[in-house]
Amino acid sequence: MRRKLAAGNWKMNGLPSDLSEVSELQTAAQGDAEVLICPPATLLTSASAQAGKIALGGQDCHGESSGAHTGDISADMLKSAGATYVILGHSERRADHGETDARIADKTRAAWTAGLTAIVCVGETLDDRESGATLDIVGTQLAGSLPDGASAQNTVLAYEPVWAIGTGKVPTTAQIGEVHDFIRQSLITRFGNDTGSMIRILYGGSVKASNAKEIFAVKDVDGALVGGASLKAADFAPIVAALNAA
Ligand code: PEP
Repeated sequence: MRRKLAAGNWKMNGLPSDLSEVSELQTAAQGDAEVLICPPATLLTSASAQAGKIALGGQDCHGESSGAHTGDISADMLKSAGATYVILGHSERRADHGETDARIADKTRAAWTAGLTAIVCVGETLDDRESGATLDIVGTQLAGSLPDGASAQNTVLAYEPVWAIGTGKVPTTAQIGEVHDFIRQSLITRFGNDTGSMIRILYGGSVKASNAKEIFAVKDVDGALVGGASLKAADFAPIVAALNAA
């Protein structure tokens, strides 16, 4: 049985005054689904003081454990600040920082070494989808970004169509189902049935309270990676509730 996961990605948003949103999520976090908030790294330590049942994560880490990498953060640093997860290979990092699949694989290994669970993101652009290349692109990203050694404990996959992130556009449930099924079969083929069938697969891209129920009803959707609608507890709590009810 895979434990459902509602993960919030605050991106480059959040000041200490916003940590009240974490406290306000406590009631929502009492259900069976795991609730995770990935705030900016500057807030991790103070967030951990009030996280309660809510897990915390980083939004990126370097592939090395320390060294001359100005502005970067290591997986150990995230761990020491209270993180148990880290988002890796988000499409905004792939686009803004030129992150390749190989670099994301390095980061994933670094996260595992530090004892973090990596949330590895994959997803096609609109051009990819319109040219019929979605499964090819997702398959290539999956193969290249996910190192050998993935397990249900150290890895979560997030399918995030780039064209659905922050746009209000959401794939049909059939489109989501097709990609999640493809990812599930790819994981089983590569890691075997025991592991491949237990790694959680999240959907991400304009998830809101109004569409969460139908998305969570799709086979092999084990939860969501949520951006904009995770910033306020009032928006995120109903998504968590829909996941608990799914
Ligand atoms: C994201 O950033 O991972 C995301 C899915 O954003 P949004 O929910 O705002 O589309």
